[in-house]
Amino acid sequence: MTAPAALRKKAERVLAVLKKEYPGATCSLRFSNPFELLIATILSAQCTDERVNKVTPGLFKKYPDAAAFARAPLAELESAVRSTGFYKNKARNIRACAEMLAGTYGGEVPAGLEALVQLPGVGRKTANVVLGVAFGKPAVVVDTHVIRLSNRLGFAETSDAVKIEFRLMECVARKDWSRLAHLFIDHGRAVCKAIKPRCGICNVKTDCDYYRKLSAQG
Ligand code: SF4
Repeated sequence: MTAPAALRKKAERVLAVLKKEYPGATCSLRFSNPFELLIATILSAQCTDERVNKVTPGLFKKYPDAAAFARAPLAELESAVRSTGFYKNKARNIRACAEMLAGTYGGEVPAGLEALVQLPGVGRKTANVVLGVAFGKPAVVVDTHVIRLSNRLGFAETSDAVKIEFRLMECVARKDWSRLAHLFIDHGRAVCKAIKPRCGICNVKTDCDYYRKLSAQG
């Protein structure tokens, strides 16, 4: 289903404002190659990017590539990623993912969504981060901020991340797919907060359904 023209126009306006407001909006995870970004993104689940950035320099020094991660004793890996939370799952997924990369892809990260989501611990969100940020491909990342802002602004009426991803692909110009999440995340952190959105200072309120409903209630 094609998004109504009005929604595509709205997306254009909203993104134009957010681009001006957050010109430096980008992925805050530190990495030097697609493999490092993949591991950092897996670690960032239920954890702040700041905390992940504290863990990854030492981690990548100890295990410089997929083969090194694949050989790592699980207990050692768990201890190395413990401070990012859910460390048992993360360590298990990272090792299984590294094993598949080392065994099937010669240690390289594949640059396609279908291959990425076959890797252990890698869902569409992680795959799209890697595609958009490491490979520069158009990819819509849907995290908690994107879910919240998409609903409040009126691009979606669901908490289903996959439905929102496809909806945003219809509403937003392809050239902006990868930038969209960084802009929504920055705006979500600074203004459109989960508990108390700061609508009074929000520069996209004229395009916001949530704000319109709130104003109508008086
Ligand atoms: S007007 Fe309020 S709810 Fe709407 S995007 Fe801005 S901060 Fe979020």
